[in-house]
Amino acid sequence: MTGPGPAISQPSPNFGGRRDGLRPELVVLHYTAMPDAQAALARLCAPEHEVSAHYLIARDGRLFRLVEEDQRAWHAGTGNWRGRGDVNSRSIGVELDNCGNSPFAEPQMARLEVLLCDILARWQIQPEGVIAHSDFAPTRKTDPGPRFDWQRLSLQGLAVWPAPGTPASAPDEAAFLKAARAFGYPVEDGFAAVLAAFRARFRPWARGSLDESDMAAIEDLARRFAVDRAARRA
Ligand SMILES: [Zn+2]
Repeated sequence: MTGPGPAISQPSPNFGGRRDGLRPELVVLHYTAMPDAQAALARLCAPEHEVSAHYLIARDGRLFRLVEEDQRAWHAGTGNWRGRGDVNSRSIGVELDNCGNSPFAEPQMARLEVLLCDILARWQIQPEGVIAHSDFAPTRKTDPGPRFDWQRLSLQGLAVWPAPGTPASAPDEAAFLKAARAFGYPVEDGFAAVLAAFRARFRPWARGSLDESDMAAIEDLARRFAVDRAARRA
């Protein structure tokens, strides 16, 4: 493993067992919305807050391990992705030390890439399994937010990004939601919330009403990564 040294163990008491024999099939990325890594660590390790994550990456690239990967950390809350709830039991949670309104530091991004590469290989998680907190809880959460560089991750096979220039349907709310659902979004949260979450991740510069570029992006993602939900339930 390359990178700036091994993980620093900082155990949090806030975890339990993964339910129903579930194993990680997702990696959820968060920002801490705290002033610094020490403040975030204090919160993520305090029993009274009942929150945690498997990892925290500081702005300087230090990696803290709070919960073992085979355990269920408490980072996701309610929501569902690809029609499946209990995201905590299905995921590994990574907190990034960031307030939400500043760029993510280079050493932090580099450390995240090494970590993701390792997690995806060990748990056989596909790049489309790396998602934002806002993706599966669009009415509640906005992290890791429009400053996070998903395209950078996708260029290394650590996340997905829409292919440019894909022919699209005319902008239409129902068609957008159909494709968003196929990709994984919980469309029961409503069009406005899903469009906001989708844009925060894939088109952070986009404003105004649904447009052809939104349609091209979501339809490309749906085409390449749609999950057969009926087969998965069986
Ligand atoms: Zn979060």
